[in-house]
Amino acid sequence: MRYISTRGQAPSLGFADVTLAGLASDGGLYVPESWPQIGAEMQRDWRNLSYAELAVNVMRPFIVGDIPTAAFARMVHDAYATFGHPAVTPLVQLDSNLWLQELFHGPTLAFKDVALQLLGRLFDHILAQRSQRITIVGATSGDTGSAAIEACRDREAVDIFILFPKGRVSPVQQRQMTTVPSGNVHCIAVEGTFDDCQDLVKALFADAAFRDEVNLSAVNSINWARVMAQTVYYAYAALQLGAPDRKIDVAVPTGNFGNIFAAYGVKQMGFPLERLIVGSNRNDILTRFFQADDMSLRAVEPSLSPSMDIQVSSNVERLLFDLYDRDGRATAEALAELRTKGRLTLGENRHAAAKATFSAASFDDAAILAGIKSWQERSGYVLDPHSAVGVLAAEACAPQRDRPLVVGATAHPAKFPDAVERATGKRPALPDRLADLFEREERLTEMANDIQALQRLVRQRRRG
Ligand SMILES: *Cc1c(COP(=O)(O)O)cnc(C)c1O
Repeated sequence: MRYISTRGQAPSLGFADVTLAGLASDGGLYVPESWPQIGAEMQRDWRNLSYAELAVNVMRPFIVGDIPTAAFARMVHDAYATFGHPAVTPLVQLDSNLWLQELFHGPTLAFKDVALQLLGRLFDHILAQRSQRITIVGATSGDTGSAAIEACRDREAVDIFILFPKGRVSPVQQRQMTTVPSGNVHCIAVEGTFDDCQDLVKALFADAAFRDEVNLSAVNSINWARVMAQTVYYAYAALQLGAPDRKIDVAVPTGNFGNIFAAYGVKQMGFPLERLIVGSNRNDILTRFFQADDMSLRAVEPSLSPSMDIQVSSNVERLLFDLYDRDGRATAEALAELRTKGRLTLGENRHAAAKATFSAASFDDAAILAGIKSWQERSGYVLDPHSAVGVLAAEACAPQRDRPLVVGATAHPAKFPDAVERATGKRPALPDRLADLFEREERLTEMANDIQALQRLVRQRRRG
């Protein structure tokens, strides 16, 4: 499979190069040259496969020519063996024709593990083939650092440094990072804010000599391999509910458009996904876009679902590319307009094409809390504040529910205990395999907000 950039100026690349590159050299995002087609007969043959077996089959067309199938199958099986449920992403029925797909059984209790557990192994494999190593440095406000750490821990060719603002991440989030005992994992508590941490990382990347010296890299949210790994659970849900002979709708809480874009990909591959429903919190640029052709940038406001507090939704570029008939120049111009004017409108035809597949709805904090409370009372199921946005969007956009509707449950409620307690009056417990989190030993380095100190630390600690 070859991959092309959404801005049309970068060379097309194979899977391994795309995985290491993240962003294309013209600033675009990589997409497959064409979507593999999975016909009805093949879908029927795949109905009884385990999650990992299905994952190998669904992803094989994307990696052929770059990763040998046997090695890939090993990586896939290892990645999903880290999940705490035998079905990996099990479906739970919430109401008639309404299912939750629990995407949070990975090591850090959020859906990003599905992609990152595989991505870490892919990095290791590709780097070993090329006799290369990388140093990953990232900043976190608490939520995404642990998924990156779990993805990279014990990987031979990777060292990872995660910066977080000292005393400003929640105790659960901090411990999910600092109690990982692996020698290639380095947690750094910076005297400062999250913005200070981000500025330090930016300064590190801006120093070209240092960047080359340590082979600096990032775990990028726009990496194609992450989208690829996320396609699998939509195929899994569709097959569980009767694909190819029955259509389903899906609803996904999203900020960066990564998760729902994977659903769009599975639809292009021939699986019977009908309507794709986007759930936003008060940062509602995607909802305004789908409802009213209004993609205009506003300030990011903090919400109860912090992993969706985003205005510039980077993965939407992959959809724009298709809406502009895969014309890279037109896509680049549209994005330039968004950047310079702060607003993009698609016009009637392109917007109608988007609406033919997507619906959207947004919810403020009060609605999220009410949604968690109401579903807990109606069904006993406790939603986290992200999954709640998905369920609320499903109810708003598909009130009839005349076919099965699957909502992506993106986090375990114990990952966001304060919001859940506010809604239900009860603090959700951590699952058994994390129950001893507060007894585990922490390992972290405290550091001043100082770029020289950071460079010294990275040089000292990284291996090889
Ligand atoms: C990252 C994240 C999201 C949003 O994912 P997108 O890639 O923006 O679609 C939703 N919920 C949780 C819990 C997350 O961690």
